[in-house]
Amino acid sequence: MAVAKIRLFLEHPMGAGQTLPLTKEQAHYLFGVMRLAVGDRLPVFNGRDGEWLAEVAEAGKRAGTLACLEQTAPLRLPPDLWLLFAPIKKERTDFIVEKSAELGAARIVPVQTEFTNSGRVNRDRLQAHAVEAAEQCGGTCVPEVADLARLSDILADWPHDRQIMFCDETLTGETIPARQVLAEAGRGPWAVLIGPEGGFSEAERERLHALPNAHAVSLGPRILRADTAAVAALALWQDVLGDWHG
Ligand code: SAM
Repeated sequence: MAVAKIRLFLEHPMGAGQTLPLTKEQAHYLFGVMRLAVGDRLPVFNGRDGEWLAEVAEAGKRAGTLACLEQTAPLRLPPDLWLLFAPIKKERTDFIVEKSAELGAARIVPVQTEFTNSGRVNRDRLQAHAVEAAEQCGGTCVPEVADLARLSDILADWPHDRQIMFCDETLTGETIPARQVLAEAGRGPWAVLIGPEGGFSEAERERLHALPNAHAVSLGPRILRADTAAVAALALWQDVLGDWHG
């Protein structure tokens, strides 16, 4: 029996013999759009039980069920890395969420800074983008997208054991290489912080420089767009402290 080139995230416990009910949207996608039929197989995951091979047991236009057959991959948790970013335009914010999920962020936190362009985000839509990214990149976990919160409130309650890779656009000149800063700070819980199009305010920058667990870094001699900066910073962090090398 062929295994479909579709991975599906399902909010349901998984185990051998388990029946997995599909939502109306999932049934429409699998049977209406992708044309799967009873007996077809596909990999599924729920963010807790690893990846499972499932078989279509019932296929209707608006409903259906899958039968869980066997585990095909264990749960692989990403490193304990959060991405804090100031939301920008809709498509670019979607891009940041998608790439963060692919690059293995464990939690995505939109933050309102003094110069944040957008005062609102649609959390459910962003969470759906994170799910889609995990489905496509072979992840067994989906990062949680948090509600928009003020950066000042988040920093007021910042966990003492979590380091911050503070991407400071004013450090584009000669400075200690970011990889050296990260390596010296070492492994553990971390967050990457990316500012808005307008950059950080002077007060925010002072606040961050005064935080003992915030490490100001440069992402090179050019000012990057916020979405580019998020991808560059996450890649750099993963290379130095994350799971790229096992
Ligand atoms: N308006 C700001 C300016 O002209 O200086 C640029 C802000 S930049 C578009 C958005 C965010 O990306 C910054 O707040 C920072 O977090 C990050 N960023 C961009 N380029 C960077 C660099 N070379 N080094 C460190 N962070 C950078």
